[in-house]
Amino acid sequence: MSIISNEEKNLLDDETRLIVSGHNTKEMLGFVNIPPFRGSTVVYANAADCLAHRNRYTYGRRGNPTMDALNEVWSELEGAAGSVVCPSGASACTTALLSCLKAGDHLLMVDSVYRPTRAFCDNILTRYGIETTYYDPMIGAGIEALVRPNTRAIFMESPGSQTFEVQDVPAIVAVAKKHSITTLIDNTWATGLLFRPLDHGVDISINAATKYPSGHSDVLIGMIAANKALFPAVKATHGDLGLYLGPDDIFLVLRGLRTMPLRLREQGANALKIAKALEGNPLVRRVLHPALPSCPGHAFFKRDFKGASGLFAIVLAADTDKEVETFLDSLKLFGMGYSWGGYESLAVPFDCTEYRSATEFRPGGRAVRLNIGLESAKDLLADLEAGLKAMEKVR
Ligand SMILES: *Cc1c(COP(=O)(O)O)cnc(C)c1O
Repeated sequence: MSIISNEEKNLLDDETRLIVSGHNTKEMLGFVNIPPFRGSTVVYANAADCLAHRNRYTYGRRGNPTMDALNEVWSELEGAAGSVVCPSGASACTTALLSCLKAGDHLLMVDSVYRPTRAFCDNILTRYGIETTYYDPMIGAGIEALVRPNTRAIFMESPGSQTFEVQDVPAIVAVAKKHSITTLIDNTWATGLLFRPLDHGVDISINAATKYPSGHSDVLIGMIAANKALFPAVKATHGDLGLYLGPDDIFLVLRGLRTMPLRLREQGANALKIAKALEGNPLVRRVLHPALPSCPGHAFFKRDFKGASGLFAIVLAADTDKEVETFLDSLKLFGMGYSWGGYESLAVPFDCTEYRSATEFRPGGRAVRLNIGLESAKDLLADLEAGLKAMEKVR
């Protein structure tokens, strides 16, 4: 085998690059995988090097070969100048925001954002004199009307991970560029395989790699990928906050990434099959899935995304707790639990009517979010249909 140059690597498909990147078999004595490097202390060869911090690695928190391997693979996947590893997806969102905001700044935050990100804005950023305005996910170029002289960042999440509105990212980026505002996006649903935010001019792309990259519901991890202009600030803020994730967890995510294209393809195809079947079921009032024309922002999904992942929501033809509980409790293949992106299917009820502030969410029935795992679509659909029939009986 001969070494693939970076230029050659750039011509490869994502599936291939996720296999060939993040290895150094020569340095690893021929072993295929880079092992978890455990360590805080890194010793220097002599006093002069020690004083000058001159070493490939200086201290465990600042990096090790396992962490570098993940950052290399991740930056290629996102088309980024560099990436950092965070101890959770939530901490990746907060660290990214802290890297581009200071006291007195104004932030534009999408109303459909992941709730803990909203909590960080309301509970922490306000304490440090940073004001947040929530905006309608469908605002597009209209966001310009909300820009103030001190607006420093616009945060997007597309699609929203409960309500699935797809944002017009290029329109928002164009406004941001005109006013020299930094743009950030939570890209957890799509991953770099289905949507590459930096190719659309976004500065910082965040991912709860807890979900699809890990893929097995056994790790919490967040990734921040940034372009050349923003990476130094992200890296410095990450370092100053003292963030670190243990090498065993990083190892598991590197392992997960090798098979992510296959998992995502299967989970995405099965989710769409199930979504379409449920759309025709009279016991389901609405299906919220970006690949269906009824989804807000479907046109942007068609224009910008390479495909859909395996998370979507349904609105049941149900108006009482008893009906929803009967549906959920009768499912045999769907666990009830938060998080998603793993190999096992999940169903969770949700209601975001209370905490939305810029828009109203009126689904017209009880909403349930479905994570489609790697079981067969036929088995999953039969389970859901049986649950709906049980629900109908308690009306
Ligand atoms: C899960 C999730 C996060 C947070 O990830 P954790 O690893 O659970 O902290 C952030 N954004 C979105 C969209 C998520 O679904």
